Amino acid sequence: MDSKHTDKTAAPKRSHRLVPKEDRNTVGEKQVENPKMRCEEVSVFYDNGGTKAINSVSLDIGDNEVIAMIGPSGCGKSTFIRCLNRMNDTIEGCRVDGRIYLDGKNIYDRDVDVVPLRARVGMVFQKPNPFPKSIFDNVAYAPRIHGLVTNKSETEELVEKSLIRAGLWNEVKDRLTQPGTGLSGGQQQRLCIARTIAVNPEVILMDEPCSALDPIATAIIEELIEELRQEYAIAIVTHSMQQASRVSQRTAYFHLGDLIEIGPTEQIFLNPLHQLTQDYITGRFG
Ligand code: ADP
Repeated sequence: MDSKHTDKTAAPKRSHRLVPKEDRNTVGEKQVENPKMRCEEVSVFYDNGGTKAINSVSLDIGDNEVIAMIGPSGCGKSTFIRCLNRMNDTIEGCRVDGRIYLDGKNIYDRDVDVVPLRARVGMVFQKPNPFPKSIFDNVAYAPRIHGLVTNKSETEELVEKSLIRAGLWNEVKDRLTQPGTGLSGGQQQRLCIARTIAVNPEVILMDEPCSALDPIATAIIEELIEELRQEYAIAIVTHSMQQASRVSQRTAYFHLGDLIEIGPTEQIFLNPLHQLTQDYITGRFG
């Protein structure tokens, strides 16, 4: 594309100069008034320090908001989101520096038990991964383990409530004893969301939750995300800029491990502050 042509595709008239590509300090408002989580100078290393995947990222996750993480493949989106419930602890040779607070408590403190932490900060993965159990037991499993239910009727009530909130109840209420793996991809993903919700989380992390789904199943999940936002803080990694603009209120743009820009989603897509963000949203790389 020649430069004249690319100018035409640029965002509407701006009143500011873009921050140049070389400047890798985060631009935009990193903090919110009601942070559910606050990340301070988070860096992540793989291979026992050999690879730095995230470089001193500071960012708030607000309550009752969806924050989208976008950026080219390999920029560190998944690595970053996995820090938020210490999922990187399971990767050998991975080290996380910095501080991540959940309601003011650093989740990397020595006295934090990751099992209840991962119930409070639940995660939905790219590929739906129901347990090889019945639909009912997929949802009931974690609440039983965490001691949230003590008898059959409590369990039934919680399973029903979770499936209703995940928008799946009507489709599965007559076949709760059948295997979760027998559902369609979109239904399986909603089952995984029901499973996450069942342990009463406060934050839900979603790592490309729709990338294995067709457009109809994707639309259903996106509607669900909007509903869930009323009760939870949600962080979603997506490779789809359209999805980020549909579902999120704030967007974080990552590039080679740096958080380049963070701001209201509309601003990021219509009037970004950084040249790298502008290049990405206009499709110049990715
Ligand atoms: P994204 O989600 O934006 O595609 P990732 O977080 O998956 O990016 O990856 C960021 C960087 O960290 C990449 O260079 C990737 O190769 C590296 N990386 C991710 N996971 C691992 C791992 N388990 N071991 C070593 N390097 C990894």
